[in-house]
Amino acid sequence: MFQLLQSGFFWWPVFILAALGLATARPSRFACFVVFAVLLGFFSATTHASGAIKALLWVFYGLSVLVLWFGPLRRAFISNRLLKFYRASMPELSSTEREALEAGTTWWDAELFSGNPRWQQLLDLPAARLSAEEQAFLDGPVEQLCGMLDDDRICNVDKDLTPETWRFLKERGFFGMMITKDYGGTAFSNMGHAAVILKIASRSISAALTVMIPNSVGPGKLLLKYGTEAQKSQWLPRLARGEEIPCFALTGPEAGSDAGAIPDIGVVCRDEKGVLGIRLNFEKRYISMGPVATVLGVAFKLEDPEHLLGERTHLGITLALVPATAPGVKTGTRHDQLHMAFMNGPLFGKDVFIPMDMVIGGPEMAGKGWRMLVEALTDGRAISLPALSTATAKLATRVTSAYARVRRQFKLPISQFEGIRESLARLAGNTYAMDGARLTTLAALDQGHKPAVISAIVKYNLTERARQVMQDAMDVHGGAALALGPRNPLGPYHSFPQLGATVEGHNILTRNLITFGQGAIRCHPYLLQELQAASGTDEKAARREFDKVLMAHLAFTLNNKARAFLHGLTGATFISMPTAPVALKPYYQQLTRMSTAFAFVTDVLLLTLRGELKRRERLSARMADVISQLYIASAALKHYHDRATNRVTWCWSPGYARTASTRSSRVSIPCSRTCRTAGSPGACAPWCSRWGGLTARLPMRWTTSSRRRSCVHPRNGTGSRRACTCPQTSNRK
Ligand SMILES: Cc1cc2nc3c(=O)[nH]c(=O)nc-3n(C[C@H](O)[C@H](O)[C@H](O)COP(=O)(O)OP(=O)(O)OC[C@H]3O[C@@H](n4cnc5c(N)ncnc54)[C@H](O)[C@@H]3O)c2cc1C
Repeated sequence: MFQLLQSGFFWWPVFILAALGLATARPSRFACFVVFAVLLGFFSATTHASGAIKALLWVFYGLSVLVLWFGPLRRAFISNRLLKFYRASMPELSSTEREALEAGTTWWDAELFSGNPRWQQLLDLPAARLSAEEQAFLDGPVEQLCGMLDDDRICNVDKDLTPETWRFLKERGFFGMMITKDYGGTAFSNMGHAAVILKIASRSISAALTVMIPNSVGPGKLLLKYGTEAQKSQWLPRLARGEEIPCFALTGPEAGSDAGAIPDIGVVCRDEKGVLGIRLNFEKRYISMGPVATVLGVAFKLEDPEHLLGERTHLGITLALVPATAPGVKTGTRHDQLHMAFMNGPLFGKDVFIPMDMVIGGPEMAGKGWRMLVEALTDGRAISLPALSTATAKLATRVTSAYARVRRQFKLPISQFEGIRESLARLAGNTYAMDGARLTTLAALDQGHKPAVISAIVKYNLTERARQVMQDAMDVHGGAALALGPRNPLGPYHSFPQLGATVEGHNILTRNLITFGQGAIRCHPYLLQELQAASGTDEKAARREFDKVLMAHLAFTLNNKARAFLHGLTGATFISMPTAPVALKPYYQQLTRMSTAFAFVTDVLLLTLRGELKRRERLSARMADVISQLYIASAALKHYHDRATNRVTWCWSPGYARTASTRSSRVSIPCSRTCRTAGSPGACAPWCSRWGGLTARLPMRWTTSSRRRSCVHPRNGTGSRRACTCPQTSNRK
């Protein structure tokens, strides 16, 4: 033993292990110095190493302690030099990028970037729920609306919703779901809003888009958040009642993805009556609801050459309301967006004069439009597009699993073939993951979070998964998916994924530039603080602050490196997990391990590429994929947790027996069997009621009457019986 202690081969691994252990445990700096002093003491006392080596090690140790312990020394030798280097290589942020970075908040994305996500926090987040009022709206007006929609006719014959449908949408408050009740809206939660869009989209994407626009990018949300009291009382009640149809016009021929570069100009001036206002020229395209809008939200750059508002000449991007009837406003020829029939088209404005009080938020909000837009987009990306994508996936899974069961080739249902099963498994997996990501994000939004990076993640990933889902569904349907017409429920959905990928920031841009680029700065625990410290004007304070953050950052990086190494060696076995079923333990552990590795690689990239990272889009895209998959996998665990917990809560609630008997009287046996075969053991009734809405409305043309089962529509309440087909069980006797 003593001989072993004398050997250098023993001590090097000991020092390395001690360094790894300390980096993993992250004790105080003092504790680290003590541990190394003790080890060095033993080393000096026991080894045969020459005195020179021992002396050198002690000198090195002493210098390290001095530099790391005493602030002035540390700043002089380490952090001030790094600060200089940092400033030279700091990425240059445009004003629009800076504003985008400041908008919204961070949430689970920051946990994943930290390398050590606190799972319990995610699991404890209350699941998104519908209020009784929202549920009643879904069961009443939305159900009624769905009955009025014939998507084939909308897209291929009328190219529009029927006049009765438009009237119904306006009268029943579909355009005012995010407007508060004091202004006549229904004030739905994000969950309620998304549920309405999802259900309508399961019937008609064009109708869902028509309802979605006024509730997301339309200026109602902007007015609610930034509008003056006068603007709110003038516009919101009219928007809620559908007396005004809004649109939001940002994109133009010159400015699409680079929306900050809009060439549309408004000049502050007085009209012939002396009214202070803006003379506006704009050219916009692809504007949803543009052809029918009565009030346009227009984004433009505001100039004040005569300094009528103040000292500044170039005020920047500003948002204003422009009545569609204002002299100079022209609506161009409607676009045909891949045969979908929602309203979309170009808008033009030539020397349009609007009084100053049409600027959203009044003159004091002039020039703050970009920030306002980014904040409004954050919600929209997280609510509407995920709802549309998930509706597409649910519908595709529903009709494809049914079709695979009833379509026979080689004397067998095609669902018996492994090739088809592979597609069906991907369909089901993607649909579950999409619903999980959607609901987890809605739960966060309903708790007041505004996670900008997560909204980019769900927008990009859910629309991309919708693309894959449609591809799988159409592959399984073979020729039946291609012939368009009322008997092809998939046909109208074929174009949606491309639309979803394009709007609200194209997916290529979102993946390559936004997700990791913004995420690294916003969600990294130290990077933004370092950037802020480095750009401080008080040099002394800046150096002190930078030094403090830098030391914490170094410890963070070393900690992640050590943990990634150890978890890699041990297969993440020793990572503690939250209160969750033991069977799920490996998932939590592996995700934590991946998050640790991701956090370390992020630091390496930031250190090696610095400002260059902005231009290395493919690298940034791959990191965006990693954080996206981490988020979607976390959300799937959360989704599973919430559903399992719901079942437990439901079973133990005092009203359980009554609820169970009511439900079983409403849901027929074949429906329940469908649920079980579809892999939702024990959650039969809730599952059926969620999917039953879809089942009831789909034209199940391939189901022969002898295979038809009749069951009570789970959402239609007592009495009103409606025939619905349970496709998975349809060929069972
Ligand atoms: C159906 C529909 C509805 C719409 N509704 C509205 C609306 O209501 N209001 C509104 O203002 N706008 C609306 N838009 C416009 C939409 O937001 C833009 O189409 C979108 O921002 C992309 O702009 P673009 O089409 O000009 O593409 P471009 O900007 O020309 O982009 C072309 C391609 O280049 C890629 N690209 C661009 N820059 C980069 C980069 N730096 N790195 C990597 N890739 C890059 C893009 O990802 C895209 O793949 C709508 C569009 C559609 C199709």
